[in-house]
Amino acid sequence: MNAISKSLPNSSHDHASCIQKALAMAENICRQRGLRLTKIRRRVLQLVWNSHKPVGAYELLELLSADGQRVAPPTVYRALGFLIEADLVHRLDSLNAFIGCPDPHSSHVGQFLICRDCRSVVELEDSDISDVVDSKAAALGFSAIRQTLEIQGQCPDCHSASPLN
Ligand SMILES: [Zn+2]
Ligand SMILES: [Zn+2]
Ligand SMILES: [Zn+2]
Repeated sequence: MNAISKSLPNSSHDHASCIQKALAMAENICRQRGLRLTKIRRRVLQLVWNSHKPVGAYELLELLSADGQRVAPPTVYRALGFLIEADLVHRLDSLNAFIGCPDPHSSHVGQFLICRDCRSVVELEDSDISDVVDSKAAALGFSAIRQTLEIQGQCPDCHSASPLN
């Protein structure tokens, strides 16, 4: 199965196919690992994949209630927790928001390019970067367990519209 394109998404791409691939990958992965992709977990994942912009838990709650069902905040947090554990979704601490992983087949650390203007996010999954961090940390006797790198900047579209530098 094709992973979702890693390049910066432009506005003209076929996003319906991104959502479709993300859900199909999630179903496969859950089947392989014996995890249950319940209705609410699947719906939350679909809503996270609404765009290539991170979405907050509160926004997810609103989107879910637009479905016509009352969903309690802990339900959403539990669904997000499951999706994060399953590597289907990443949490961006600097934005307190969540983004779908385009390549969830292995547990990995991510580096995220976050556009300050339009908030679109692209994930780099570059083990060269994480290896450097691991070895620099190890040189100080520090065992790195989890690393998430959040890089703020401008995406190509926003840069050509109004460059910051
Ligand atoms: Zn897309
Ligand atoms: Zn990822
Ligand atoms: Zn942008």
